[in-house]
Amino acid sequence: MVKTGKQHIESLKDGRTIYIDGRKVADVTTDPAFAHAVATAGSFYDFQAAPENIEQMTFVSPKTGDRVSRAWQLPRNHRELVERRQALERWAALTCGMVGRSPDHVASTLAGFRMGLPAFRDNDPARAAAVESYFDYARDNDLYLSYVIINPQSDKAKSASGQPDPHLVASIVDEDAEGITIRGAKMLATSGIMANEILVSGFNALQAGDEAYAFTAVLPIGTRGLTLMSRRSYEQAATSAFDYPLSTRFDENDAVIYFDDVKIPWDHVFVNKDLKMAQAQWHETRAHVYQNYQCIIRLMVKLRFLLGLARKIAEINNIINYPQVRETLGLLAAKVNNIEALIIAMEAAGEHFNGYFVPNRTILCTAQVIAQTTYPEIAEAIRTLSGGGMIMVPSSFADFETPETLAIIEKTQRSVATDSEGRVKFMKLAWDAIGSEFGSRHLQYEMFYSGPTFVTRGNSFRFFDWDGVKGFVDDFMATYSLPEGASLRPAAE
Ligand SMILES: Cc1cc2nc3c(=O)[nH]c(=O)nc-3n(C[C@H](O)[C@H](O)[C@H](O)COP(=O)(O)OP(=O)(O)OC[C@H]3O[C@@H](n4cnc5c(N)ncnc54)[C@H](O)[C@@H]3O)c2cc1C
Repeated sequence: MVKTGKQHIESLKDGRTIYIDGRKVADVTTDPAFAHAVATAGSFYDFQAAPENIEQMTFVSPKTGDRVSRAWQLPRNHRELVERRQALERWAALTCGMVGRSPDHVASTLAGFRMGLPAFRDNDPARAAAVESYFDYARDNDLYLSYVIINPQSDKAKSASGQPDPHLVASIVDEDAEGITIRGAKMLATSGIMANEILVSGFNALQAGDEAYAFTAVLPIGTRGLTLMSRRSYEQAATSAFDYPLSTRFDENDAVIYFDDVKIPWDHVFVNKDLKMAQAQWHETRAHVYQNYQCIIRLMVKLRFLLGLARKIAEINNIINYPQVRETLGLLAAKVNNIEALIIAMEAAGEHFNGYFVPNRTILCTAQVIAQTTYPEIAEAIRTLSGGGMIMVPSSFADFETPETLAIIEKTQRSVATDSEGRVKFMKLAWDAIGSEFGSRHLQYEMFYSGPTFVTRGNSFRFFDWDGVKGFVDDFMATYSLPEGASLRPAAE
């Protein structure tokens, strides 16, 4: 048996608490603010369950013998790593790379934790046992998880415990024989509304005194006391699929999450008031590498889509033969290929880690740094190529239904490459990708989902082989010296 979209959508009817526009959502699967995004979530599972895809998209759980998403696979060699990536690539293509927190993202985090089990074990065997058993449970039920690992913005000059309200940031407020109780907020639960469970953890720096904030746990989204405060729904605001082809389908949602004294059992707690492990869980395992490898794969797919948009704009406006336009497109193609090349490189230079085969860490860090500037550059180049084309469009599909406006559309929406309907359809797609509220949110997402630049560049600094490059310089400098007799300094002892 393999999970289907219908099963996933049914599983979201679990009494979850979501608020939007001042109202409580009765059923996320049918609510106009979320229904299409939820259907997209289901489409991932239908795709992997289709007979023609099942071999590529799933693998056999070593525990149950059932097929589950390859996102849960722990590759042992380069071939398995590439096979898993190809499955992730196909999932990303279903949404043109527009769903960032698809089910393979947090599955990759948990896989990274699982591969780093010895780090948890050395620290606290009971917490390691929780990681191990939860991983099996999540994999064998092919769960969709979201995560919140960032503290809500407030006074950035103070750490979690130094905020005027000690319960702003989610922390452990109680513990007993059964588990921990948490209170406070985290941001941002992207895809939380359509996930089964959520991983709550911390990536922000912590300091002595912040122990209560240093925890990692998982819990079902439907848990009593857990509230998702959704941002505005772009899919609900979109007038039609013709006008907003991406907003209407792929608005994965982002939400602030609030825990009102929520109890979590010990077998769902991976880190408990432990400043050291709160950091080590990311970097002494391969969680950070593996989750961001998934992000870069998804980004590569999205950039291919944007590159297609850029090329089509040039053809539709017949600017393709201008040398400057070809130069721009050549530069964009190189930037997109660069991200693809980094994926191939991090696999080819992959590392053995506790018996598993994982992408190369420093190349992953490189890809993250480069990706953060590549996306805004490509988005800006599309705006440059488009000029006013994405704005010079009828207000909505309804203008095609009114004879007067249809006549003007036919006269004014001209292209050497397509008819007036094709031109409007394309320009509206390009605007939804780049300029609509949905498109604009994507720019913010790509700039920040993996942390601000000082974090990604800090990791690049941290994991780079500085000894190698310094040694290179030192070795070269050892090949020459002051000319003999030129120095008045006494010779070194
Ligand atoms: C669309 C979107 C979706 C997201 N989805 C998720 C998700 O699914 N799960 C999740 O956990 N998080 C998610 N996030 C949160 C994301 O991880 C954070 O936005 C990111 O880590 C940056 O943290 P911040 O927003 O607090 O920005 P800040 O840390 O406040 O950074 C903002 C700016 O402040 C300045 N700054 C702040 N601190 C420093 C410093 N110490 N030194 C120098 N400059 C500084 C820099 O100019 C920086 O660019 C999402 C964010 C967005 C925008």
